[in-house]
Order: sequence, then C-alpha cells, then structure tokens
Amino acid sequence: VIEMGVPQRSVVTTCAYCGVGCSFKAELNGDQLVRMVPWKHGKANRGHSCVKGRFAYGYADHPDRILKPMIRERIDEPWQEVSWEEALGFAAKKMRGIQEAYGQKSIGVITSSRCTNEETYLVQKLARAVFGNNNTDTCARVCHSPTGYGLGQTFGTSAGTQDFDSVEKTDVIVVIGANPTDAHPVFGSRMKKRLREGAKLIVIDPRKIDLVKSAHIAADHHLQLRPGTNVAVVSALAHVIVTEGLADEAYIRERCDWDEYLSYAEFISDERHSPEATFVLTGVDPDVLRAAARTFATGGNGAIYYGLGVTEHSQGSTTVMGIANLAMLTGNVGREGVGVNPLRGQNNVQGSCDMGSFPHELPGYRHVKGAEVREVFQKAWGVEIDPEPGLRIPNMLDAAVDGTFKGLYCQGEDILQSDPDTKHVSAGLAAMECVIVHDLFLNETANYAHVFLPGSTFLEKDGTFTNAERRINRVREVMAPKAGYADWEVTQLLANAMGANWHYTHPAQIMEEIALTTPSFAGVSYDVLEEKGSVQWPCNEAHPDGTPLMHVDGFVRGKGRFIVTEYVATEEKTGPRFPLLLTTGRILSQYNVGAQTRRTENSTWHQEDVLEIHPHDAEVRGVKEGDWVRLASRSGETSLRAKLSERVSPGVVYTTFHHPDTQANVITTDFSDWATNCPEYKVTAVQVGLSNGP
Ligand code: SF4
Repeated sequence: VIEMGVPQRSVVTTCAYCGVGCSFKAELNGDQLVRMVPWKHGKANRGHSCVKGRFAYGYADHPDRILKPMIRERIDEPWQEVSWEEALGFAAKKMRGIQEAYGQKSIGVITSSRCTNEETYLVQKLARAVFGNNNTDTCARVCHSPTGYGLGQTFGTSAGTQDFDSVEKTDVIVVIGANPTDAHPVFGSRMKKRLREGAKLIVIDPRKIDLVKSAHIAADHHLQLRPGTNVAVVSALAHVIVTEGLADEAYIRERCDWDEYLSYAEFISDERHSPEATFVLTGVDPDVLRAAARTFATGGNGAIYYGLGVTEHSQGSTTVMGIANLAMLTGNVGREGVGVNPLRGQNNVQGSCDMGSFPHELPGYRHVKGAEVREVFQKAWGVEIDPEPGLRIPNMLDAAVDGTFKGLYCQGEDILQSDPDTKHVSAGLAAMECVIVHDLFLNETANYAHVFLPGSTFLEKDGTFTNAERRINRVREVMAPKAGYADWEVTQLLANAMGANWHYTHPAQIMEEIALTTPSFAGVSYDVLEEKGSVQWPCNEAHPDGTPLMHVDGFVRGKGRFIVTEYVATEEKTGPRFPLLLTTGRILSQYNVGAQTRRTENSTWHQEDVLEIHPHDAEVRGVKEGDWVRLASRSGETSLRAKLSERVSPGVVYTTFHHPDTQANVITTDFSDWATNCPEYKVTAVQVGLSNGP
C-alpha cells in the first residue's frame, strides 16, 4: 500500500521556471511525483520557493502531451504517428535534401532557454558541425540579447556581476524594468527583506509595481516614466551625478578608461540630458529624478537590477550600456552589495547564451570569426567551422519568405506565439519545406511543422541550468522520459541520422566537452557539482570554487568602458488613431505564454489576461470595470476585459501575455533593438474601445 503522504524516495533537482534557479526535492511514491519541496540547501533559494516551482508541475502528466513522433509531407495533411527511427530518418532526409537543393546555409536551428546547457550545446553543435553553418539562434533573442551586447561592450562579459547574496549588503536598490515580486518571487522576497532592514529603493517603471508600495515597503523614489524613454531617464540620472560632482573619480581613474570617461562626461553634462530638459520626453518629475540620482550616488552600496522592461526596446542595448555607465560612474561594480544584475526571465537564459546559441558566437561568447577559437572546436569536433556568422531568428524568417531558407529544427520554443509580428512568423514558417518541432505539446508553431518530436520535461532528464547569478545547478532525472528519450538524446539521434557519429551516453560527457572547449567552464564537471552543490562561472584553474562576484580586481575586458548613450525615440508613435501606449508584463502564478502553467492548477488563479487602464482613460471611452474592450494597434487587434487601475498613468495601458487567446503579439510592432534585433514588445501605440467580446 502506498501512503501518498510518505514519499518512498526523493531526487534533488532545479526548478524549470524563472532564472532564480530554486532547488527542490522532488518526492515520489513509486513513479508518481507527489510533491516538490523547496530544498533548504539550495544556494539560490535556501529552502524558499514560489507557487510556480512548488505547484506548477502537473503539465508533465497533462493529456495534451504528445508522446509519439509524428510526420506529414504537407502541413495541410493530418499527422501520422511513426517510430522514432522513421521520424528521424524522415527529418534527416528532408534537411539534407534541402541543403542539396538550396545550399548549405538554407537550414538552421533555434535553441531554447528552457532546455539544459548540455541540450543547448548539442543543438548549436548540430548547426555548426552537422549542418555546416552558424544558423543557430535562441529564444534569448527576444528577451536578453541586449544584455549580451551591452554588458559585453562595457564590462567585457555578458552576465550579471553579483550573486543573490550580495543584495544583503546593498544600501540602495535600483529596480528598472523588472517586477521581481511577480517574475522572480524568491529573489523578490530577499529584496523585500533587505528593504525592510532599511535599504533605499528606486523604482524606474511605467507602472506602480508591488515594490512601489506594498505592505511594509514603499519605494523612496518611483520614476514613473513614459514607455520607451529608459535611455533618457538613465542619462538624466548620469547627468545629475556628473554635473553635481557626485561621480567617483578615484574609482573611474583606477578601474575605467579615463579618456573615454572624459568624452562621456562631456557628452552627458550637456544640458539636453538634464532632468528638466528630458521631462517633456519622459514625464518624470525633475525633482524626483534629481533626488533619485543623489540617493544612488551618495547612499552607499548601490546595486541595479533590471529585466525585460529594459531590454525589449528599440534602444534595449543602449539602456543596458547606460546602466553600466551609471554603475561605473558611482564605483558600484566589483565588490559585495553593488553591481549590475539582469534578472533572467527563463530558467536557463544565461546558460543558453553561454552555450554558443547566438549565430555569431561559439560557446563562451567568442566570435566565430576568431581563427584560434574555431580551431579549439574544430579539433574537438573534427570538422571545419564556418567563419561567417549565421542568421538570427528574424533573418531566418525573412530569408524563408525570400525563398532561401527552407528548413528549421526548433527545440522547446514556440516562435509563432512568442515572437513579434505573428503574420510574418507564420509566413516564414509556411514558406519552409521542413519544420521540425521538438516540444512537449503541439504548440502554435507545430501548425506549420512537418515533423513533431516529443520533448521531455525537466523531470525526465539529467543536465544543468545556469541561473541569473551564473550559478550552474544540477537537473536530475526524477522519472524516465515519457516518450522514450531525453531531449539531448533526440538531438544526438537527429545528428547521427544526418551522418554524424556522436556517441554520448550521459550528459556528464557533454559537460566534459563543454569544460574542454570553454574556459569559463573549464573547472565544471558533474563530480564538482556533486561535491559543491553548485558553482558560479567562471569556474576554472584561476577560480576553482567558482566566482560569486565578477570584476573584482579589474573588468573582464581590462578597463571598464563608458559608452555614449544618445537617446533616439522609438519609431512607434502615438497619434490620433492610436493615442495610448501599451506595455506588457507577467503575473506571479503564470509563466510566459503559459504553455506549462496553464496546464496546471495555477490556471485556476489567473484565468485570463486583462487590460489595465487608468480610470480617466476608461471614463472618456465609456469603459467600466470588467467590460470587454477592443485593443487595436497598427499591426492588429484583440479583445480583453478591462481592469480599471491607477497602477498605470493616464495614456498608458498594460496587459500580461499568458493566454494564447490574448494574442498580444498580434498587437506588437516589428521594431527591434538596433544592435540585437530584440523585439520592442514594451511599446505599442494602441486604441481602446468597447467591444462585444472575442
Ligand atoms: Fe521556480 Fe523562480 Fe519560483 Fe524559484 S522563484 S520556484 S526558480 S519560478
């Protein structure tokens, strides 16, 4: 007799939702997972968790899961269940046939920030070593690619500077474009604890997030800016710091390029960056902005935490560089309690980027043009590597519409639902001759697929995830893969069906190869992870125990680099037809497009996305609480229920995007970050009017 309350065994693993990377004990009776218990030894969570990690695992058993491979010649034909061998043979033949007909660069891959480091490493290796091109991109393209660019340019590496513990030594916390209590709840709670102990808080956000005012917490300064004006606000903060003589010049002389600082100081001192001059753009009260700048510069240890409200803009990379400038200006990089910290939305965004998913970088953020770096991988893989960067996701779709890109292997990512300009994505997918979707469910992208390969959940595989503080956590197999193979095995089978000769028998061997080829992972192995629990990269000969704090003795690039950050207004403009600005975010109980959380009990807590609208904007449109409204932009329209709220300013509306019916990406534009093509999800000119419902 199995007692449901008394588990027979437990396995320690890592949550597969957000970038906090909480450790859990998965408790089982037989093969039945009975509960997830936050693990007290988990270094990222210390025994805490949120509702998603604790309760939202039911999707692993959901009847919507597809457990048999399926194929079809044409997307208007019904799916046909086949054996793994037949599906992989079919996929391999199609992909090779496309290359013969259209050239080596006519196919590519998309990796997932949901998958393990080892799986991601294999998918980019599939593109580079088997397809013979660099057409590999990641869903990080649509979230934190500007972090990669911005922190790489200024500090020399694309990662947060601190560990989570560092917040306990912070005197001034700056939260910009992030909502940690909903999107990163366990770290949000640590932040709140520090605030209750007396740290000061500056929130820069168009919306009154919970941290602005909730029980026992109130922000000292809320810079409630107009969506799309981050660069102007960050520059105005820097202007005050420089012109009021608050910059830490001793630190800058020692740690940063002094000549570049002088150029930057001259640029930022110009009156056009002053709080008074930028008020007309940003809507932020100049007195509030000046006070915030003084608090940050003089309040002791200052740490900046940011999220997608920074990156998902046409100037996402510029804002990241502006934030880095602010931290260097005030000497706030390189010790406990300070730093620049991107809060990663998905469990393995950091790892996905580390593992070489971008089309211009091999693992460890090294450009494919570098002959020495290519040589490392050529030796390890026994193939020639193309020195030309490959296509980003939007370029793959453009090339598909143009007829030169014909085949895609998409692992763990629903680009039709999560990428901008849905019409363009569907046109690109429809133009391809072979789309391979490797996922848990028949997602929206699978409507255009010719091959469906069943995926495995985080409970069904071994591997590692890297969280937002660069912590490499073990993921352990809790139960056997329901469809027969873990995702890394499927990628290996596909590679071999296309002529490769891979023979990994366990993800530990893939990690050995990562350590061999990637200096920041040189000291990482499953034995080390067993012994230490987890480590933060760089972990190598110089840092055998890992690196909680980066840039301590000097920046990774040598001297920190100030970069001039000119504000350029987004091309998305309000006007008489579309007078309001829409911005988007998330809610605690749901996760991204909801593929997992909607298939768990969490869905009962949040059954639909709603449109937050200021009472003044609602009144002039005759909209009352709970009314159905039509939300229209230049790109498309959808219907939502209205929620009257003073969390948003007049002129700004807000929604979440957890339910497919909301079709938020039908509304958003195709503008994107100038450096990385990260879509501008956070600024869309819209109109709102009463409707009869969907
Ligand atoms: Fe999972 Fe993030 Fe919640 Fe932790 S805070 S349990 S990692 S969703």
